[in-house]
Amino acid sequence: MTSIQQNIELITTQIARAEQNCGRVQGEVQLLAVSKTKPNEAIIQAALAGQRQFGENYVQEGASKVAFFNDHHPEFDLEWHFIGPIQSNKTRVVAEHFDWVHTIDRAKTAQRLNDQRPSSMGPLQVLIQVNTSEEATKSGAQIDQVFELAEVIDDLPNLVLRGVMSIPANVSGYEEQLQAFMVLREVNNKLAAQYANIDTLSMGMSGDMDAAIAAGSTMVRIGTAIFGARDYGQQ
Ligand SMILES: *Cc1c(COP(=O)(O)O)cnc(C)c1O
Repeated sequence: MTSIQQNIELITTQIARAEQNCGRVQGEVQLLAVSKTKPNEAIIQAALAGQRQFGENYVQEGASKVAFFNDHHPEFDLEWHFIGPIQSNKTRVVAEHFDWVHTIDRAKTAQRLNDQRPSSMGPLQVLIQVNTSEEATKSGAQIDQVFELAEVIDDLPNLVLRGVMSIPANVSGYEEQLQAFMVLREVNNKLAAQYANIDTLSMGMSGDMDAAIAAGSTMVRIGTAIFGARDYGQQ
């Protein structure tokens, strides 16, 4: 077994333990393997360990991986999630390659993704990125903008709103992490009361996975703990 496969096994066990510790149904939390900057070979190793959902942050890099796996490894049937910031001029490439987008924070992006989604691919599954730490510099919609944006998305036939995601500010303690995640959960509960397909709460990374799962996360996004440290110098 390769180290990537061992890491996936380890994290799967950690997720199961966290689910158990807070009395959640086993298998409710999905693992999104964040493969940004990592080569196709690393993704193959993860796929051979049974991992199916992958997250990418950079449009061109992600799109070329999607194309590679469609062409050479259709047997893995991978599901691709775009989790990076989206510039308006890159929406077409995202719409034409990915299954999910976690980072919608404005109506214009939603509209463009809708218009550019090829009908042959079926609707794009989307999450609204929420800025739970109210920091002006970080991306994500402010909480009071989320509901207006949800209404816009709900009217777009090629997008399906599935929930929300956030990247909370770096807080160290478990209780602080839990509190930040509970805010996001509340937003998602409000959306679920209004819209039919809300079932996804994308929160939790390597350092705050336990708090995220205790707060109701349904998808944790893990990179380094699966693939090792990223070397940005190579780019
Ligand atoms: C890179 C990234 C992750 C994974 O982070 P790690 O610290 O490597 O686990 C998760 N979510 C988002 C949005 C990211 O950009």
